[in-house]
Amino acid sequence: MIIVISGPGGVGKGTVVERLVAGDPKLWLSRSWTTRGRRPGEAHDAYHFTDRGSFEARVAADGFLEWAEFQGNLYGTPTPDAPPGRDVVLEIDVQGAEQVKAAHPDALLVFVDAPSREVQRRRLLGRGDPPEAVDRRLAVADEEAGRGRALGATVVVNDDLDEAVGRLRALIDEARRGAAR
Ligand code: 5GP
Repeated sequence: MIIVISGPGGVGKGTVVERLVAGDPKLWLSRSWTTRGRRPGEAHDAYHFTDRGSFEARVAADGFLEWAEFQGNLYGTPTPDAPPGRDVVLEIDVQGAEQVKAAHPDALLVFVDAPSREVQRRRLLGRGDPPEAVDRRLAVADEEAGRGRALGATVVVNDDLDEAVGRLRALIDEARRGAAR
């Protein structure tokens, strides 16, 4: 099964996904490629950080399940190579979710959102994003949420982290029961 988790920047998706994957050994987290530079304090393995030339070469070699340009940088999911029996988790933007749904209509789609844009703004500023970048991300968040709903993604509001992770676990359990039927 493919589990796609998308949502605007600064809604705490990364933390939700980290918790989710740490608590379920059957989940396999895909590591994306990006041409974005590493943020101060960001883990070295948060992404495979690369340059545009190498990224484009992999696109040409058909090495991505999906990829998208987001605010001037390229992001892509390498064709998954999960061990047998593991469910693949992708943390990607909504354009990527659209591509995955087209290729895998049975994927489980979840859209994580912040309780409010004001909470999201504080989280983005708190992690050190420059104010112009924060404004750009907030400006597209409602559009992204609309596209997520149009895709049929289930919305999980990340107000309380434990509750958000619990909701996701319940959605995955339900999808696994459906797949086993
Ligand atoms: P950030 O720069 O904040 O790490 O990520 C920016 C956006 O790109 C986020 O919405 C994130 O989920 C998305 N993203 C991360 N990896 C991928 C990927 O492999 N494919 C796509 N389409 N989006 C991605």
